Amino acid sequence: MVGGGAVATRRVPALLDAGAELLLVAPEITPALRAHADAGRLRWIPRPFDPEDLEGAWLVHVAIDDPQAAAAVSAAAAQRRIFCVRADDREAATAWTPAVTRHGPVTVAVLGGGDPRRAMTIRDAIRPLLRESERKGPLLTDSVEQGSPVNTGAGSPGRVALVGAGPGDPELITLRGWRLLTEADVVVADRLVPGLLLDELRTGVELVDASKIPYGPARAQEEINRILVDRALAGAFVVRLKGGDPYVFGRGGEELLACAEAGVPVTLVPGVTSSVAAPAAAGIPVTHRGVAHEFTVVSGHVAPDSAASLVRWEALAALRGTLVILMGLKNLSAITATLLQHGRPADTPAAVVQEATTGGQRTLRSTLGSVAEDVAAAGVRPPAVVVVGDVVGVLPLL
Ligand code: SAH
Repeated sequence: MVGGGAVATRRVPALLDAGAELLLVAPEITPALRAHADAGRLRWIPRPFDPEDLEGAWLVHVAIDDPQAAAAVSAAAAQRRIFCVRADDREAATAWTPAVTRHGPVTVAVLGGGDPRRAMTIRDAIRPLLRESERKGPLLTDSVEQGSPVNTGAGSPGRVALVGAGPGDPELITLRGWRLLTEADVVVADRLVPGLLLDELRTGVELVDASKIPYGPARAQEEINRILVDRALAGAFVVRLKGGDPYVFGRGGEELLACAEAGVPVTLVPGVTSSVAAPAAAGIPVTHRGVAHEFTVVSGHVAPDSAASLVRWEALAALRGTLVILMGLKNLSAITATLLQHGRPADTPAAVVQEATTGGQRTLRSTLGSVAEDVAAAGVRPPAVVVVGDVVGVLPLL
């Protein structure tokens, strides 16, 4: 790479991602490039170009403004039969940088016949078509990630992906989660999973609604584990879709262990957790400079005075940072009473965010001393997140 300005800064990440061994020649470079150099991801020679720099190179990118200096690099490259990309003059180049879209293992690269904007327009037009074809059938399998191609049908190995679906808005699933969902043969979904995501599954997918499984919670979990393992052993690609992040009060760990014990390959795709996203959607940052340097996420599912509680509420009462309580509505008055009793001030701001990031989102603002009463009076229902701390006041509530 000859040049250390904006063009080089934009191009370097893709080269590094492709595994290039990168030599950067430029008297001065941007802070972003310096960070790559400091981290050892590329080697920087802080001086102008010298033809000797091309020794051993396969490809040279010219990203400098001075046309004469750029032409000198081109000439040196041509003499050595090294392909040369010219950011300043595509006519003088012997190689060109395409506009790219990636879908798992597949890369589509578009050259626009000299017009980069045309290339980008066409690339942008192709992107949704790729998604569309994924939806119709698992045309793009996941071989890079998994090491072996995914086959479906009896006798061939299946696998399980535990995928975080995000807090509710279907757009808040990750790109990888979405791609795997479009490739699934079987989808096992939770109650809190955005229904709109399931709307878009390709036809022929077996959809298992985990919330409709009868029996008590413990038996139901065993049953879910059994479905994941059985379908995968029968050759299916199973996506276990869970609200928020699979490992935040989601029993994702148990499901992973069940698959591992049965010898089923299993991967995890993290999700946007409601513990951070629900406050954010209501205009509450879980940390804020000068206000809170910590946030603690706790389950309110088990009452504070229960023998089964693993939470030291008296210790939480002594913190001054942000407290985010999930599954906290049922025990809210016992929880707030415990926090008050152990010293958290009654006038600490508190808020409750119900059905965050969905059409039904609503926010109730209160204080630690009054929130339990206010929630009952306002008829707030699960799913809801309770936030306690001074961060509740720092931004205008949405
Ligand atoms: N794994 C999930 C949490 C599962 S526990 C995650 O990472 O988000 C279920 C609890 O999450 C609910 O009782 C509620 O407290 C919270 N929750 C999940 N989705 C929510 C939403 N859209 N709005 C508010 N709270 C939500």
